[in-house]
Amino acid sequence: MNSATRSEREIVHCFRGRPQLTRAEIQELTGFSRVTVSQGIQSLLNRRIILETDGAASHGGRKASHLSLNENSGFVGIVYFSATSVSIAIANLKGEILNSQTSKISIEDGPTKILPESIAQIKEIFKSIPKAKRLGIVVGVPGPVSHTLGKVVSPPIMRGWDGINFQKEFTDALGIPTYLENDANLLAFAEHHLVYPDIENMLLVKVATGIGSGMILNGQLHRGSSGSAGDIGHMQLDALKGLPCRCGHTDCVESFASGWALTEKLNVLGYKVKDTSDIADLCRKGDTKILRLVTEASSYIGHAVADAVNLLNPSKVVIVGRLVEATDLVLATVKEVVYQRAGALATKNLEIVGSELGDDLALLGSAQLGLDRFFYLDTRN
Ligand SMILES: [Zn+2]
Repeated sequence: MNSATRSEREIVHCFRGRPQLTRAEIQELTGFSRVTVSQGIQSLLNRRIILETDGAASHGGRKASHLSLNENSGFVGIVYFSATSVSIAIANLKGEILNSQTSKISIEDGPTKILPESIAQIKEIFKSIPKAKRLGIVVGVPGPVSHTLGKVVSPPIMRGWDGINFQKEFTDALGIPTYLENDANLLAFAEHHLVYPDIENMLLVKVATGIGSGMILNGQLHRGSSGSAGDIGHMQLDALKGLPCRCGHTDCVESFASGWALTEKLNVLGYKVKDTSDIADLCRKGDTKILRLVTEASSYIGHAVADAVNLLNPSKVVIVGRLVEATDLVLATVKEVVYQRAGALATKNLEIVGSELGDDLALLGSAQLGLDRFFYLDTRN
């Protein structure tokens, strides 16, 4: 789309969330003249970015042809890191995930080992796509992201990755634009775009190895002035009585309630757990000691969410993560604490729910964000 004119880009943008349009509808949506719309559409048809099909007969008896995006005219690459895995995928213009593979990693093995492997994997997956159709790459990471620099900055659960310039690494290797985004922001973006497009203010909380959140405020992803907005895992609670956190501070919600903190605690108690997935498995088996600990952890998360609800007044809070899927206790406890602690007006229209999208949430969110960044007009999302 780099070679497209401004009016062509505006025509393409009309298809955001609309599978089919007629020329008249495009004219109405853009406010362009009939000639401008006609020329723009012809150019997009010639390049097969949009396709034309004959529609049903209209009242006048003449058939109005329908236009739709050619979903195979552009593709977004996705590289999504969690603390314990990396998923590589491509998505078409409809945001459908066409090809994905997930490998186990430990993010703490650092960039020297993990980054070249991920670059090789995304190169491989892009091989079948002609260069002109490669729109860009979205990289998701479980840490604070400076969007202007394309780097992670002091990431507590990504030791050794501080200052790594993902944008430069991937762009240099593949020759297409790269956009780096925090994982919770991608998840919030997915839930907002695909499940709750009409919700103006919502909060998504990811409870995993770390704890983070993504915010949609006034319909837009809110990143804050330097990209660190939503760092809910490092809100501090007196009740945690000086527990050290990986960020260097004490009393953070993460220092008790995160996957890494629970893993450390359980190993001290004599369990043998590697990560959050192991704890989720024990929850499913109904281990009462673990369930008690996860409930206590959830109450601290509830404290932080209650403060966020008071501050932001969202109408929807979505809680996601392995532990949320493993036991209803997480959601139930967070709800109980939030309704106890947050103000009456803040909770009046509030719903606290799990995810509708399940395991594909991260890739779907990355695809949607990539399309906004690299294909549609930049909507600043
Ligand atoms: Zn912390």
